[in-house]
Amino acid sequence: MFARLSMFVAACILQASPAYADQFRVTSQGEYFTAAKAVRAGDTIILANGTWRDFEIILTGKGTKDRPIVLKAEDSGKVAITGQSNLRIGGEHIEVSGLVFRDGYSPSGEVISFRRSKADQARNSRITEIVIDGFSKPGRFDDDYWVSLYGKNNRFDHNYLAGKTNKGVTMAVRLDSNESRDNGHRIDHNYFGPRQNLGSNGGETLRIGTSTYSMYNSGTIVEDNFFENCDGEVEIISIKSGGNIVRRNVFVASRGALTLRHGNNNVIERNIFFGQNKDHTGGIRIINENQTVTGNYMEGLRGTGFAGALTVMNGVPNSPVNRYVQVSNARIEHNSILDSARITFGAGSDAERSAAPISSVFADNLMSSSDEGRFLEADDDTSGISFSNNLVISGNISSQISAIPVQKLALARAQNGLLYPVGEAFSNRGAPRDLVVLPRNQAGPVWYLKPAANSGFDTGNVVTVAPGEDTLGAALASAKAGDRLQLAAGEYTVNKTMLIDRTISISGPVDSTGSLNVAGAIIRFSRPALFEIAEGGNLRLTAVGIDGAEAPDNVGNSVIRTSAMPMQNNFALELDQVSVSNLTVNKFFDVIAIGKSTMADRIIIRRSTFSNITGMVLNAAAETDNYGQYNAEYVTIEDSSFNGVQNGIANIYRGGTDESTFGPHFKLTNSRATQVGNNKNSAFGTGLLLHGVQDTTISGNSFRDSAPIKIVQTVGVPITVLAGNSFGAGAQPVIEEMFYKGPSRVEIRGTKLTAAGAK
Ligand code: CA
Repeated sequence: MFARLSMFVAACILQASPAYADQFRVTSQGEYFTAAKAVRAGDTIILANGTWRDFEIILTGKGTKDRPIVLKAEDSGKVAITGQSNLRIGGEHIEVSGLVFRDGYSPSGEVISFRRSKADQARNSRITEIVIDGFSKPGRFDDDYWVSLYGKNNRFDHNYLAGKTNKGVTMAVRLDSNESRDNGHRIDHNYFGPRQNLGSNGGETLRIGTSTYSMYNSGTIVEDNFFENCDGEVEIISIKSGGNIVRRNVFVASRGALTLRHGNNNVIERNIFFGQNKDHTGGIRIINENQTVTGNYMEGLRGTGFAGALTVMNGVPNSPVNRYVQVSNARIEHNSILDSARITFGAGSDAERSAAPISSVFADNLMSSSDEGRFLEADDDTSGISFSNNLVISGNISSQISAIPVQKLALARAQNGLLYPVGEAFSNRGAPRDLVVLPRNQAGPVWYLKPAANSGFDTGNVVTVAPGEDTLGAALASAKAGDRLQLAAGEYTVNKTMLIDRTISISGPVDSTGSLNVAGAIIRFSRPALFEIAEGGNLRLTAVGIDGAEAPDNVGNSVIRTSAMPMQNNFALELDQVSVSNLTVNKFFDVIAIGKSTMADRIIIRRSTFSNITGMVLNAAAETDNYGQYNAEYVTIEDSSFNGVQNGIANIYRGGTDESTFGPHFKLTNSRATQVGNNKNSAFGTGLLLHGVQDTTISGNSFRDSAPIKIVQTVGVPITVLAGNSFGAGAQPVIEEMFYKGPSRVEIRGTKLTAAGAK
């Protein structure tokens, strides 16, 4: 039995009749549900410290403002909810605190729901100091929401949410029913921690409403939250409803933008964005009517396109609810946008999105660019925007934008850590002086540690390995994350596929001159794969030779493959001064083969050589469903050579028409390809096949006696540059556009074609 302790509640002395509150300390699920049935206003249920596995918590009832019904941990942070678990609350004046959801995932569509059922939505309730840490469904595209806010006047504060790896927004405010609109919810002082790139739509950190209900007011306040490395997709926050206030939040190194996607009359003020020079970090994107964007501060943002520091979109005339309502009556005033890459007016202008912004004001803003490229861009007519009292300190401005003065101006950091003009001359431009940057330690529960920087490669011990049979496998078995296996010169035979489920670096010997000696350490293997990257794994290979001659006579071997199971965490793979040869025992022997539902944050190949290979060097084309998913965010190949690689250098595929991702990115520079892609049996007949890649640079390469490289451009605004390459007979690039019609948007320059290759 649980302990039923009656205690006198001091606060009740003031009431006419003395009231008692019960406190139930429970140690099992059975005790919990008995207590949950018995609770009345003022009662508290205490979950005993420890681990509660497979626990679907439900709590409802009628508390009052002064006498809420409370569910809390015996000690905050010492109650772990694991396995297949979730929490639903209904009723009113319910408060839940102190629980840690980890080591598991919700068996339903939500981890925390502010409704017990459609008929029982929470009101005047609060969830505070809860942790949801990596509580993701195993399948990347098996979707759920971690938190769904329903009902009215609920508060979600001082919580920690980080490490969501599966599809579905981290937190959603739902407006599906009348009871959930004009809701007066408050979302404050939460820590929204790292959310890795999903590689698909559905990776938003916070969404308020949906297109279907976007004509309704939500009336939600989002304030004093800290967003860090929220990299899920192009929208960090997606507002899809009206009448919300988003203020005083801090966004650090987060890819994407706060997007006013649907709904009118939202206020975005006094938010701080620090891009820290990270790719695709953006600020605010404006769509719809009567949006106010004032007093925001942005610094070091590197995003362009839909993730610029400030993006004012073009609309669709008489737009359907799920497309783009024309910007009208936007007020964009007193913002500082400093050391940032792009501000765009009329963004997304095309045949469908043809309605430029109208009746809008852009005033008293202070701006400076991060580089020499276009800083203030106009993709359409800007005459519907009134520009006044703005100042650009540095940056290239489109001639379509009515005059904004450019004037050098010294900035200095004030006490609050933000940059402001020195002197009085322009002191009234830009963001207010009294902005406060919310300290990181004021977001989330104080008792839960926030993530440190990744440990990364070569941060652990150096473990020396002697040549021989299975010595490498034995060394790997006892290596810890961050360790480097340092190989001596000689031959290594591996008879078991090496499972990489930690961050591991393997390096060959350094010769007497101090440079790495590729010929020094040779690895041979007798299984269909040498390495398999599994959940949690990252692999760096440096200065080793890999010879496939001893591999079994199978179709489809590979040197490095990913787990056959879906992987939750993105991985990194780096090859430097690696020599791979003799992958010829059977057909389709690849160097790197990425499987479905696995995603590389980066694959970097430098100073490496690949010769006599029946497959391809990088096979990253497993996401064939055309949902806008793909297998690798950044692929970088530099200073490498390819000789006799029958199926080509790489096949990277991102299908579909969704515009919610930044990648894939592909770079091939200063490399040489000879007899690449010439396999008569290859389905592709290409030396390199890129489909739906968003950002491509191919420069300073030579292709000889090779099949053509083929680039298929799909949706979005792909950036494709081919510069300073020479293409031999038959190898010149083939460029295809699937949807876009218009002048070529591929930049080709400095290309040499041999006589036979020119057509
Ligand atoms: Ca989205």
